[in-house]
Parts: sequence; structure tokens; C-alpha cells
Amino acid sequence: MFDLMQESVLNFNQGHKNILKCMKNPVQSHLPKINLHTHQIVIGEQIQVLNVFAQDLPMNENKQYFSTGLHPWHIGKVNPETCFQAIELAAKQKNMLAIGECGLDRSIATEFSLQLSHFKKHIEIAEKYNKPLIIHCVRAFSDLIQLKKETKSSIPWLIHGYNGNMDTTKNLVRHGFYLSAGEKFLSSESKHTVLQTIPNDRIFLETDDREISIEDVYLLASQILKIEENTLIKMIFNNFKTIFGDDKLALNNYLT
Ligand SMILES: [Zn+2]
Repeated sequence: MFDLMQESVLNFNQGHKNILKCMKNPVQSHLPKINLHTHQIVIGEQIQVLNVFAQDLPMNENKQYFSTGLHPWHIGKVNPETCFQAIELAAKQKNMLAIGECGLDRSIATEFSLQLSHFKKHIEIAEKYNKPLIIHCVRAFSDLIQLKKETKSSIPWLIHGYNGNMDTTKNLVRHGFYLSAGEKFLSSESKHTVLQTIPNDRIFLETDDREISIEDVYLLASQILKIEENTLIKMIFNNFKTIFGDDKLALNNYLT
């Protein structure tokens, strides 16, 4: 009798502890959606990585997560030395999560060798400050893979606004890239099987500079991948945690 009573007291205490834990951590079962790359901050419960062009630095807001780089479209229009100095300074900010967008674009007139030298400088800074790269890549995927091999880079390489075909996707995955999909990719029916090919631990979602909301991006992706939205949210949240490290980001409130 006494043993039984003692046991129920113990159970009550354990249950009470669990309730207290949930109260302290109400978001435990409600993870935020991650928007890996956006040009516009939206008020809400999501975690957003704002893209700031290097020429627009410094970023004075200390709470907003951001990434910064010299976009290949801006090469020749801005002073590269000033930009790289500003990027290095920004890299010391805790809320600066990644270097980029930066990258390679074969659809623009800017000399490709000039794009390469600029991109290499970004890789150096990313390595020096141990920050992942957020990459803009148009028709230069094999150059990108070559560079990743050549530099033996140790930091994660994330391709934003990803829009590649099946072969390119398999190749990039094999070489360790992370791929972030947005409206353009998700709304193209021919890309649905491509999206399904990306391993769960390599995928991100974003709004970029589009009008679409991150909610709609998640909805579209969960329909294409045929998985519950909550499963998708958890999956991408875990990828975010893996890449950016929860100790750096004070993400502990969201840990499951
Ligand atoms: Zn962008």
C-alpha cells in the first residue's frame, strides 16, 4: 500500500516536471519555418536569412540573421576592395550566418575569369570565418563542382534559387552540395521528380526576391514531396541546425 502511494507520488512529480518543461518551452512542438534566402523581412514566427548586398553594408541590426556577398551581377559596378573589407567586418558579427549570395553566372556579360576570382575571394573569407557559402549559380554547375574539389573546402556550400536538372542534381548531391528551392523550381512540373531526388538532409526552401510567402513555399514542397508539412518543417529545421550550429544561433528554445 505504502509502496503504491510512493509510486504514484513519484509519477505525479515526473508528470509535473514534464508540464513545467513544456511551459518553459512552449515552442517545443511548434518549430519555425526556415527561409534560407530572402531579400525582404516578413514579420512572423519564421527564421529568415536576409540577403544583404555587400555594397549596402554595414548591417546595423544585430538580431536579424543575414548573409552578405558581392553578387556576380554587381561585379564591375561596385568597388571590390571596399566590398570585401565590409564582408570581412560583417563576418565578425554573430548574426551574420553565411557568405553570399556570391557565385558564377554564365548568362551575363561579365568576364567569367573575373567572376571566378571574385568567387574565390568569397571562398577564402568563408573558410577563414568558418561560415557556409550561399551561392548564386547559373549554367556553371560543373565549374562549381570543380572549384569545390580544387579548394578542398571544408565549409558547407548551399546553392540558392536552385533550378537544375536531374543529372546536375545527382552530381551536386554526390559532391556534398545543399540545394535550396524556391517558387520557380517548385512551380515547374518537370522539376517535381528532381525535387524528390534531393536527399532529406540536403534540402532547403526560400522565397528569394519573389512575392510568394514562405508558407506557400512549404505547402507546395510538402505536396510535391508527398510528406506532412510538419515533417518537412522538422526536416529543414534540422538541416539548418546541422549547418549553422545551434550554439551559435541560440536555437535551443526550438530543440525537440
Ligand atoms: Zn537572391
